[in-house]
Amino acid sequence: MTEPLIRQLTIFGVGLIGGSLALALREAGVVDEIVGCSRREEHLRQALELGVIDRYHLDAAEAVAGADVVFVSVPLGAMRSVFEAMRPGLAADAVITDGGSAKQCVVDDARAAFGTLPPGFVPGHPIAGTEKSGVTAAFPELYRNRRVILTPLAESDPAAVERVRAMWQAAGAEVEEMEVHHHDEVLAATSHLPHMLAFGLVDSLARMRDNDEIFRYAAGGFRDFTRIASSDPVMWRDICIHNREAILDMTARYQADLEEMVRAIERGDGDALLEIFSRAKAARDRFCNE
Ligand code: NAP
Repeated sequence: MTEPLIRQLTIFGVGLIGGSLALALREAGVVDEIVGCSRREEHLRQALELGVIDRYHLDAAEAVAGADVVFVSVPLGAMRSVFEAMRPGLAADAVITDGGSAKQCVVDDARAAFGTLPPGFVPGHPIAGTEKSGVTAAFPELYRNRRVILTPLAESDPAAVERVRAMWQAAGAEVEEMEVHHHDEVLAATSHLPHMLAFGLVDSLARMRDNDEIFRYAAGGFRDFTRIASSDPVMWRDICIHNREAILDMTARYQADLEEMVRAIERGDGDALLEIFSRAKAARDRFCNE
């Protein structure tokens, strides 16, 4: 019999991201056993009942005992404590990867928790998700034909990088590599800023008087634009705090452009508005048809 890609996968945080990876790898038949770990037993029991994991531990060191691959998919603010808690049970040759939405903070947390970065540590980020959270939102097709960015470090063992790449490919994803800082800048622009705008707009409208009426007349465009404002507030608080610099750069740039648009409206400058809207439409049409 051939060796499975993964003998024991331990997942910290069996929610949307971790649960979907478990389901995809199970469906692909590349993992022998999946162990879950998080804070609340009722969530782990639910994951067990749904067939997402085979067993669970509340103790992190017990959960990683025997694991050849460890996947951490908890909110960014919990990464460091999870790394610290697993440390006593971790095998020296275990591959450790994560799904966190920003990468420099996870690298810093791993360095602080482990002392030095283990050669098996390969940070990653699946560019896939929904506005739902928890294990009941997990589904095996989440990563199919979606991109996963790995941000290997100078310390990362190439064999560990290949293992993590093969894991995501088995889940149906296309894997790319990027430098940590570049990842955080790109994601601040394409994901983090849009989430801030959606949360901010819905909050502004919700705090207006007569907001019932405003929301009653909100049509498809409003729903499309604000869908991501239904995302988990804890996860997004953590992303803002942990990718602060890149998000602040992007918001400053966006504020300046928004200000320019406001000034064009004040001046009644239709040409300037037409130029902005035409440029934006052409860019969106182009990337949506790629
Ligand atoms: P989720 O569905 O809410 O799952 C998070 C899991 O983490 C829960 O099962 C929770 O279980 C566990 N958890 C929370 N705090 C913990 C702690 N202190 N220690 C141990 N476990 C803890 O969230 P998700 O959407 O899967 O996101 C997980 C990670 O993936 C985040 O880092 C996020 O940035 C990243 N990500 C999310 C998306 C997305 O669209 N959702 C996309 C890409 C990457 P308990 O309550 O039982 O502890």
